[in-house]
Amino acid sequence: MVKIKKSQLQDIFDLIKKEYRVVAPVLKDGVIQLDYIESFNDLPSGYTQVEEKSFYKTEKNGEGFFSYSRPSLPYKRFLIPPEFTFLSIKKENGKLRFKEKIPDKKTAFFDIRACDLKAVHILDDVFINKNKHPDPYYKAVRENIFIVAVTCFSPSDVCFCSSMGIKLKPDRGFDILLTELDDCFVAEWGTEKGRKLLEKLHYEKVLEKDLQKINKKLKETQKKIKRYVDTQNLPQILYSKIEGKHWEDIGKRCLACTSCTQLCPTCFCFDIVEKNFPLEGRSERIRVYDSCFSPTFATVHRFNIRESIASRYRQWLMHKFAYWTDQFGEFGCVGCGRCITWCPAMIDITQEIKNIRESR
Ligand code: SF4
Ligand code: SF4
Repeated sequence: MVKIKKSQLQDIFDLIKKEYRVVAPVLKDGVIQLDYIESFNDLPSGYTQVEEKSFYKTEKNGEGFFSYSRPSLPYKRFLIPPEFTFLSIKKENGKLRFKEKIPDKKTAFFDIRACDLKAVHILDDVFINKNKHPDPYYKAVRENIFIVAVTCFSPSDVCFCSSMGIKLKPDRGFDILLTELDDCFVAEWGTEKGRKLLEKLHYEKVLEKDLQKINKKLKETQKKIKRYVDTQNLPQILYSKIEGKHWEDIGKRCLACTSCTQLCPTCFCFDIVEKNFPLEGRSERIRVYDSCFSPTFATVHRFNIRESIASRYRQWLMHKFAYWTDQFGEFGCVGCGRCITWCPAMIDITQEIKNIRESR
């Protein structure tokens, strides 16, 4: 753990940029999104976002470099892209040639907050660690990722990460962790790669008073997070309420637009489609995002087992908060609140869980 000057943040960025493509929050069309960035100045420093049910706006009144909260887009887009051609097939001299595409570019996630960092670890379990057949494409991307995490002191009103067991200052899973104070950054390394990078900088020792300031800020930030989900016995309670009027009630409001699943950092469902170019004698096999809210998602041998929107919403919520615990031993939600902000029907998952808990 070392202390660096605020101005040295750009030095860290520039050192990383020499070796990696950098994915970071960026302000586009009035929304803090996520994209490849070329310059340190592309970061939306000084901005904050206001988020509520079906409401979003940015304001230029934040303090410090990391004044905003997590971006509206999830990091999964850079691990499992919305559309990814993994196999090209071409007919040449009467023979078929297969060319597999294994990603090999080195990428850095610059400024990932604890909720999104946890979501990456959840996806690691789904695609690699707890998968009998690890996904070679995800694995190849993941092995080339360098992670700069940032302690979050700017949650928005939709965040409920703490009730999902997530600490604002993560303690693992990063190469470097930055904690912003008024006059400096406290930088920690989580890997040898992170240590080597930080050692290239001129740094000072972290003092006891710096740690006290961090703890004070963490406590103050924690108090700002008012939204929560009561997770006690939640899977069991949901299983016991799997039949009930509450699902029909949500089904009447939900538009099945799929917005929540596209933005959720842990939703990973995909489809495989074939794009054929017969005149060119070639075809491509493509992995594309799918969603359990799509009308045909659960069609098996012509029979759609989830025709009603109510049954699709139930599948989504039950997967996040009940089935996931059976499959992976933890919840599939990190409390980032994106599904609350970007649901056009003002459906708030924390409120729905409360309603279901209280229903008879
Ligand atoms: S379910 Fe909603 S709050 Fe939970 S991780 Fe997904 S988008 Fe975030
Ligand atoms: S819950 Fe909201 S965001 Fe999700 S599919 Fe329904 S209407 Fe769309």
